[in-house]
This record gives sequence, structure tokens and C-alpha cells, in this order.
Amino acid sequence: MTFDYDLFVIGGGSGGVRAARVASATGAKVALAEEYRMGGTCVIRGCVPKKLMVFASGYSEMFDDARAYGWDVTEGPFNWPRFRVHMHKELDRLEGIYRKLLDGSNVEIFDARASLKDPHTVILSTGQEVSAKHILVATGGRPVVPEMPGSELGITSNEIFLLDEMPKSILIIGGGYIASEFAGILNGLGVEVTQFYRGAQILRGFDDEARGLVAEGMRAKGVDLHLGTNIVEMRAATKDDLKGLTEGVPMEDGHPAVVPHKSAGHGIWVKATNGTEKVYDQVMFATGRAPNTDGMGLEDAGVTVGRRAEIVVDEYSQTNIPSVYAIGDVTNRVQLTPVAIREGMAFVETVFKGNPTAVDHELIPSAVFTQPELGTVGLTEEQARDIEPVEIYCTSFKPMNHAFAGRDDRVLMKLVVSKATRKILGCHIVADHAGEMIQLVGIAVKMGATKEDFDRTVAVHPTMAEELVTMKEPVRSA
Ligand code: NDP
Repeated sequence: MTFDYDLFVIGGGSGGVRAARVASATGAKVALAEEYRMGGTCVIRGCVPKKLMVFASGYSEMFDDARAYGWDVTEGPFNWPRFRVHMHKELDRLEGIYRKLLDGSNVEIFDARASLKDPHTVILSTGQEVSAKHILVATGGRPVVPEMPGSELGITSNEIFLLDEMPKSILIIGGGYIASEFAGILNGLGVEVTQFYRGAQILRGFDDEARGLVAEGMRAKGVDLHLGTNIVEMRAATKDDLKGLTEGVPMEDGHPAVVPHKSAGHGIWVKATNGTEKVYDQVMFATGRAPNTDGMGLEDAGVTVGRRAEIVVDEYSQTNIPSVYAIGDVTNRVQLTPVAIREGMAFVETVFKGNPTAVDHELIPSAVFTQPELGTVGLTEEQARDIEPVEIYCTSFKPMNHAFAGRDDRVLMKLVVSKATRKILGCHIVADHAGEMIQLVGIAVKMGATKEDFDRTVAVHPTMAEELVTMKEPVRSA
């Protein structure tokens, strides 16, 4: 049987684009369909613009620091429209690069929505039908908003990068990566931030000590974090809700200003599980993401979809239909860009290079760009001690640069060590640039480094990270 293409990729995000390019380089005839903008969540409405906003928000503290270091600086307000234009120019540039890379790799691009008709046929929103020997679904995920009265008034991480103006106040719902990162970003940009998390501590699944320090640091910087709290209902605020409201920037005549909200007119009234009622300029839901499998024709092709709407795949990213593969967030394995890229590379290795390659999901280092930042690899103390006896090496201190500037921020360096093998099972860092540090620690941990290997390494002085190789005594055994 002959096909129009050897490979048809659905989705132009990090995973799909990489798989298409690398497959094409093997001599395969490849096409890719993207319904929105090339680059996917990471480039267009995720990692990249988020990190630019982290950088932007970091300047608010730097003004004070600069003064402590002897600079005469005058602090002005943050100009969101100016930054937003610059940020979107950068995203356009990156999108252009993605397109050029695909063109340069001879991948045919369809700017259209694609869905499956059967195991070898793709239907495009243009009406065109094409056949392919292999189909790779890399359609990513999307934010989910809980159903409740008024939740349609809220925004998600999709809209945050497109706002016409910065809200004066925002309520963020959730305690995961996105909620906690945006709480810090918006707080740094001068927005009055309230965060509700339904559980006992934000960043569930991360090391307890590390998440505790992140939460403490966020509060110290001004985030009004409420734990064990959720939203009950919300609606457009009425004039009555706003009576007696004293928040906002005082007007010139000294009266408190009422913050207008574009869509609702007067802000959003929110009732919380703790009984409080308050009006916010914006409400942002960061309550998790769901795989993009709706309307994909997966049932028509016979592809198994799991309970969380994810495409079910084996370790080679193959679905139950041999010609259909899936990678990235749509499979709901590990929702991280570098993981999707690796899954794409392993797929090409397996299918187009005859070298079956399973994706290694063990010991993935990652960072949460909260303020303070968290970097982590391997097991948390809580996970490790359930598996085997461990020693915990941990230190928390005021780093030199912050101490000099009079800031109270503390840093955490923590190693979880196996008593039996002496291997580093986990490393958790809360500090400026923790993401950069954990990338390097990740190599050592992946190589199976022991505590003694760390001890044999000479410290780089004066740095924060030197503590990782100078912790002599465990703080506890567990
Ligand atoms: P997460 O799964 O990390 O967090 C979702 C949060 O929403 C949790 O705190 C969850 O609470 C809460 N939640 C879920 N449902 C409700 C509800 N009905 N009411 C109130 N709260 C609710 O998802 P995110 O959307 O933050 O991020 C998605 C993924 O994207 C992450 O898991 C990560 O893999 C990736 N990502 C990675 C980043 C990075 O590498 N720096 C940055 C951003 C995203 P509970 O804990 O109780 O379930």
C-alpha cells in the first residue's frame, strides 16, 4: 500500500516539530499540521513568555538591591503594554524560527486542524484528506477550569499573556506550578495577589521542606496565600459589592478608587470556602491541564483514550493502533517540554531508524520558577524514606548577596542520601537560579553519584551551591 506521507504529525509544539524534523532527516516524507501558531504551549503561551515575565518581575526587588549596593536608582512603574509588545515580538521571532526549521527540513506544513479518520488517514479542516504510513499525535494540553457558578468570568494561563492591562488585584486559584509561578510574577509586577490553594501546602508532590520555604518566601514578598481554601462561587461585582471597598489606588481627591474590570465592569465578586467575600479585578484559574484529545477522531481510528482523556501509549509512545503514536502532554506522562522532545526523538529512533528506544522518565530534573525558585531532581525526603533508610543533609541560610542588600530571603540546599548505597536519591534547592543549579546536579545524580563523590568535589567559593559539597553531617536519618 502506498501513502501520501511516511509520517503525518498533528501538532506543531516542541515535541511534534522535533519529531517531524528528525524523521525528515532520515529521508522520510513528512507533513505536519498545526491549527494555531507554530511552537505550541511552550513557545506561545507557556515556558517562554512565562520566563520573560519572571525576568520582568524580578526587577522590582533589584531596585532596592541596587540602592543597597550603592547605586542611585529611581524606581518607576512597570509598563505592561510596552513589555507585552516586546514579549510578543520575541514570540513571533521564535515562531518564525520554528517554521523556518520545518521548511529547511523539507517538512510540509498544513496550517489547519487535523483529525484522524482511520489508522492511516488524516482529515484536515480544509476538507483535504491525506494518508500516512505513521501518524504522530502531539496535540498537547489545555487549561481546565472547574465548573462552578461564574467560572466563565475567570481567565487561565492562556489569556494572561494577552491582557490589555495589568489588573490591580488578582485571585489565583490552584497551588501547582502555574498558580505558584504566576502568583510570584504578578506580585513582582505590582499586582495585589491573593492565592487560594485547597490543600495543606502548595506544590504538592515536591519535597515538604522545599515547598514550605517557597510558600514562606512567597508570603514574605507579598503574596496573600490562603491554604485549605477554595472558591465557592463568583459573579460580576455589583455596585453594592463595591460599597465600602477601600482597596485600589486612591484618587486625586483622596477617595479610594474602585478598580474597574473590563469584562465585568466592576470586578469579580468571589465567595470563598472560608466564608470571605471579596471583589478582585481578575480571577485566574491554574487548576491543572487536560490532554487535547477532543474531536481528534481517535475513536474513529480505534485509539484507546484513558480516564483522564489522555492517549494511552506504551514505552515506545505507540498506541494500541500500530500506525498511530503519541508524544508529549497529550499522553499525560510528564508534562514538560524537554520530555516531549525526548519522546519525539525516541519515536523517530524507534520507527525510522530501526532502533527501538524507550523514553527514560527516571530522574528528570525540573524547576519551578516561583519566587523563590525551586529546583529538584529525584526523590523527595518523604518518598525516599518510604522506600529505604536515608540520611538527610540540609542547610538553610541567607545568601551573601541578599544578606548584604538587607533581604530576608533564605536559601535551601538539601540532599537525600541512601544509607545502603550512599547514592544521592534526591536534591532540592530553593534559591535564585535554582533551575540552573539543578540542571548540573541532575547530571551527577543521573550518573549515580554518591554523597562521597559530592564530598570529593572541591567547593566553588563563594557561591551558594558550594554548600552541596560541604555538608558534613546529616541533619537526620529517616
Ligand atoms: P498542576 O497539576 O501542577 O496544579 C494544578 C493545581 O490546581 C493543583 O494545586 C490542584 O490541587 C489544583 N486544582 C485542581 N483542580 C482544582 C479544583 N477543582 N479546585 C481548586 N483547585 C484545583 O497543574 P498546572 O496547571 O499548574 O500545570 C500543569 C503542568 O504543566 C504541570 O504539572 C507541569 O508538569 C507543567 N508545567 C511546568 C512548569 C515548569 O516546568 N516550570 C511550569 C508550568 C507548568 P491539588 O494539588 O489538590 O490536586
